[in-house]
Amino acid sequence: MGKVAILGSYVVDLASLVDRLPIPGETLLGSRFMIGPGGKGSNQAIAAGRLGSEVFMIGRVGNDFFGQMAIDNFRREGINIDHVAIDPISETGTAQILVGQDSENMIVVVPGANSKVEIEHVNNARAVIQGTDIFLTQFELGMKTVEYGIETAFNLKKLVIVNPAPAQPLTREIFPLVSIMTPNETELQSLTNMPVDEIEQVEKAAKALRNLGVDQVVVTLGRKGALLVNESTVQHSVGLSVNAVDTTGAGDAFNGGLVTALAEGKHIKEAIVFANKVAALSVQRHGTAPSMPLRSEVESLDHISNK
Ligand code: AMP
Repeated sequence: MGKVAILGSYVVDLASLVDRLPIPGETLLGSRFMIGPGGKGSNQAIAAGRLGSEVFMIGRVGNDFFGQMAIDNFRREGINIDHVAIDPISETGTAQILVGQDSENMIVVVPGANSKVEIEHVNNARAVIQGTDIFLTQFELGMKTVEYGIETAFNLKKLVIVNPAPAQPLTREIFPLVSIMTPNETELQSLTNMPVDEIEQVEKAAKALRNLGVDQVVVTLGRKGALLVNESTVQHSVGLSVNAVDTTGAGDAFNGGLVTALAEGKHIKEAIVFANKVAALSVQRHGTAPSMPLRSEVESLDHISNK
């Protein structure tokens, strides 16, 4: 079982289904309401945990109903929460989501306690980071804290994996500390200011990211799978052909799969094949965290695809 430290966000998703989106000042009746765990950090932690990783979450929630819900959920998923702090003042992060017809949506995210994860918090978790095989983070906490986390893990000689989502500028000096960066096409475009419409352009942009100092780049390409660009190779790993019903959280499933395989000592190419399978299973179900597959489901897929 590999050990993974994840510095990241928790946000409670509060989603309402409506026939159409309201205009300012209007009150509408919705048809359904759903509540569930979200935030890229939490989603990736749940994915990695269900796949068999021992996960150590580093984050912050509020001292409120949603914070307790987060803690209970992490416990149910078997995630270590010794470094999920409870903020006495700020509220738990929330995402209020309205989904209209044809999936048009309106979303308000209030980061709340996520924006109170400070450098000191990372320092408190140093021993945990030291004791794991891989450090994984995303861009949903304050960037100062994210960058400090990357520096800390690099100095502890850990494999540092960065999922640069949502797209945010990163200090130049941080790129060389990243072992593997996993942008999607939009994030790659935003990090490099280069076009990514064709696969050749994606390859060029990924190479530009390597020139900034990132060791290996894994670009996720939606249903087309993922592209690995490192010192020795450029390799396209095609996605699985499945009937996708909800691709939210696909990137989180992919990252959870990738770190799990790498923490078990798998080669990067093998880890990408595994991550594509994990993400392909998740897109066949609705929801983000609830759609994350179990290890046994990925393995039964191996059985089918090996036939
Ligand atoms: P994305 O964040 O959209 O690039 O997707 C992340 C990963 O999810 C991809 O690298 C694929 O492994 C998987 N994925 C996303 N959409 C699909 C799809 N429609 N069919 C199969 N796999 C998908």
